[in-house]
Amino acid sequence: MERFHLVCRACRKSRKFQLALERCSCGGSFVVEYDLEQVQNTLSKESLLERPSTMWRYWELLPVRDSSNIVSLGEGWTPLVRLHRAEKALSVAKLWVKREEQNPTGSFKSRGFSAAVSIAKEYGVSKVAVNSNGNAASALAAYAAYAGMEAYVFVPQDCPGLIVEECVGYGAHTVLVYGLIHDAGKIIQDGKAEQGWHHVGTLKEPGRAEGKKTMGLELAEQLAWKLPDVIVYPTGGGSGVIGMWNAFRQLKELGMAHGDLPRFVSVQEAGCQPLVDAVQAGRFAEQNSDVTSAPTGMRVPNPPDGDWLLSILRETNGTAVAVSGEEIRNASIHLGKLGISSSPEGAATWAGFCRLREQGWIRPHDEVVLFNTSHAMKYMHWPVKNVPIVKNYADWVTHPRRM
Ligand SMILES: [Zn+2]
Repeated sequence: MERFHLVCRACRKSRKFQLALERCSCGGSFVVEYDLEQVQNTLSKESLLERPSTMWRYWELLPVRDSSNIVSLGEGWTPLVRLHRAEKALSVAKLWVKREEQNPTGSFKSRGFSAAVSIAKEYGVSKVAVNSNGNAASALAAYAAYAGMEAYVFVPQDCPGLIVEECVGYGAHTVLVYGLIHDAGKIIQDGKAEQGWHHVGTLKEPGRAEGKKTMGLELAEQLAWKLPDVIVYPTGGGSGVIGMWNAFRQLKELGMAHGDLPRFVSVQEAGCQPLVDAVQAGRFAEQNSDVTSAPTGMRVPNPPDGDWLLSILRETNGTAVAVSGEEIRNASIHLGKLGISSSPEGAATWAGFCRLREQGWIRPHDEVVLFNTSHAMKYMHWPVKNVPIVKNYADWVTHPRRM
């Protein structure tokens, strides 16, 4: 029996692991499940002590068959820093920030793309494409370059300039798109057959969520296998929420972690808050208009698995919070004074945490982890030059500056 296979969340039918099987024939999304008996033969708390400080220390729980296909730039095992002064000031038992900006591409996206590009390599893929708010694009660009694949990245026209330059620097075919992340995704959808692109957009293939899963595995290990009470996470497409939820579930089945799952809190910026609205309404709907929030990783009006995210927030007794742009800016200043530089997404988790602590939703005895998902410096102003801007696939095909 293979170590891993796909299972449909809706009809529970399982099938052999495949590269780009987006949905089950019933419409349900797939989860990668592992033969945990096989996993247990080599994975244990003790065996981990001997392993390298990257996310591949958990290789048994990642869907790559042959270790020679692993494409790694040293991602994972990021610091978990305790904020002692803030604990006292805000009366909370324990508070940490997970410093995901210290990954090789300056964001948590390194994890998803290390896994996705490794899987792609295993299947002999040569061209990969992604739509992104920025950090996923530069991560794909880096991992594809390292693996010797061609990368095509499509980002909204207001994507932070330094991130666009980062993509160009890694040699990716880099394109700005009029519109939002899903408009960029449509170009890949329309062109992938003709261009031979392997689409590594959020939840288009299993690698991204599986790579993000390692944040949960790592968090558990760093906290001596005692899961925190609350995880505050900046949420756009939400593959990190899905990944960590899977991580904790698998660790519990393996007997490596015990107790309740952490309460997941999704933080979004007001003006693009489909999950916050879903929690309030009790059902998920795409936000089809009036997207007014800033161009950060949280700006995803149509997360592809919104229902799944809502069900995780519910199952874990979690919630979702919308914070304003001003709250995010103030939060960043506040975190800076605590010695932590934060991206807007990371600062948003601080703002969300403060709100929920004030409301009493986060209680004095809670142990809380915030996620700083990206490097602060990526958001410094930088004008973009010489990168084509397109409306759609036809426009891209005929664009004079297409690279
Ligand atoms: Zn199904």
